[in-house]
Amino acid sequence: MTNYSNYQELFEKNKNGLYLANTNDLQQSRFLPLLQRAEDAIKKMIVKYLWENKSVYDLRNIIRAYIEDFDKNKLPKDIENRQSYILGLYQMSNKVYDEQMKARKEFSIVLGLLVSAYALKGLKTPKINAPEELAKFIVEHKKEIVNLDMWSQAKASVRVQQYPKKIEEYIKRTSEIPTLAVEEGKKPISIWQKAELDIRHEKQMQMVRDAQASGDDLYYISSHPDCSKRCEKWQGCLVSVTKRAKNPQKSVKNFNYNKESFKVGQIDGIPIYSLKDILNCQTGYGYNNNIIGGFNCRHHLIKYESGKKPPKEYSAEDVKKMREINDQIRLAERKIREMRTQQLMFKQVGNRKEYMRLDREIAQAIRNLREYCDKNGFAFQEYRVK
Ligand SMILES: [Zn+2]
Repeated sequence: MTNYSNYQELFEKNKNGLYLANTNDLQQSRFLPLLQRAEDAIKKMIVKYLWENKSVYDLRNIIRAYIEDFDKNKLPKDIENRQSYILGLYQMSNKVYDEQMKARKEFSIVLGLLVSAYALKGLKTPKINAPEELAKFIVEHKKEIVNLDMWSQAKASVRVQQYPKKIEEYIKRTSEIPTLAVEEGKKPISIWQKAELDIRHEKQMQMVRDAQASGDDLYYISSHPDCSKRCEKWQGCLVSVTKRAKNPQKSVKNFNYNKESFKVGQIDGIPIYSLKDILNCQTGYGYNNNIIGGFNCRHHLIKYESGKKPPKEYSAEDVKKMREINDQIRLAERKIREMRTQQLMFKQVGNRKEYMRLDREIAQAIRNLREYCDKNGFAFQEYRVK
């Protein structure tokens, strides 16, 4: 097995020496599950109200009251960009509402078709109040429905027969609608990503402040192969943490930096660039997504010592492998969270069969993830799949 002990700069370890697939932080583990629970609670409420044919007006008020209470009493006050999460909850609610309104409309149409077809035959349909009842009725009376010869259009018959499948799809689609962090002038991103960005960013900026306060002005930016396109042009470069360039580039497209404009001098024949100006450069969607300060950047500063070489590079293959493991873990976590939400919603509408099936699938998925983490020396982070 490969020894990854040289890779701490790419992947942090916890106190047990296990790699953390994601930036772990007390703050993050404290509030992300809260947001996840709020998302689930809102989805459940919407399904409940719309599927039980309750008042749409009441539903709107209840959701608003829920989010206001969450804002005031549940979400910690000391979170960076706090409002972006609250806005994200409102936006998610609207999307879920729209999706579930479609389910409610489908219910009315299919019920209408069924009742009228039965009435034409002189048959009575039982009293059906909710989508799940309708689905059950259709499944149980399949033969009868297929043989109703008075369907004015064949399409209507197909629509009725497909109804049970269709309402399951509405639930699945709804459970996959994410809560995004919404900030004005910026592209919305998932709350999990956003939390990681803010926390990572905060750590990186602390590193820069420490460097500025240390009295040493020159630092190499660490270097590793396979680094993102954003960081490629700057890794391994020498920077000043205090000096400003005369006329630096203020914004950049596709990370096509004009490096010359960031130059503040040179030492031992090595050019020096202004880190402050690099960090200030705008990169699109309203973000300053640059090396050191940008999305999930793990590059760090290494104090310059005259005569010493720039930091060495790691084996591209090993780094790539670590990244793949990291991505796999994230994907598995996200899938489990989605299944949990789906399960809650099936419970809400009384679909026991799907609920039990998901129960087994979630347990199996968690076992698989644990094993995968163990095998690769990564920490299994339970709070991320709760
Ligand atoms: Zn980077």
